[in-house]
Amino acid sequence: MLKIDNQLLQEIYAECRRAWPEEACGIVVGQVGSHLVATQVIPVRNLQNELHQSDPKRYPRDAKTAYVIDPKEIERIAREARDKGEAIVSMFHSHPEHDVYFSREDQDMAAPWGEPLFPHMSYLVVSVTAGEIKGASEFYWDLESKKYVERKIS
Ligand SMILES: [Zn+2]
Repeated sequence: MLKIDNQLLQEIYAECRRAWPEEACGIVVGQVGSHLVATQVIPVRNLQNELHQSDPKRYPRDAKTAYVIDPKEIERIAREARDKGEAIVSMFHSHPEHDVYFSREDQDMAAPWGEPLFPHMSYLVVSVTAGEIKGASEFYWDLESKKYVERKIS
């Protein structure tokens, strides 16, 4: 589970409001120890609209209901975090006009073959309705039940 202070949470919420009515996305960097402690929030561009426009058959959804982060961007942020002795501890995205939940797509992205790509990393999902934050949860991988478990943040 992730420890994240209110100031960093407000940075995530600000990005989610800014991107509305499209999905915001970004990366949370921090310290990995007995707890994950967030130290930095890095909003990143949602590439979904560009993918949707260039290949609507393969990418039927636009940025209102999906997000894609450039893997090169993730690599760069991971490398910079490593140089500081830190790591990517979480990723966030918003659900415009939808509730907080870990969707089928969210689970497939996090654990494409039923096993998490990054078991220590959690996912933050923020609901934004009419431009306002309606709720947020962290979804973390539970080793015993072998699935993502929700912890409400607000
Ligand atoms: Zn989602």
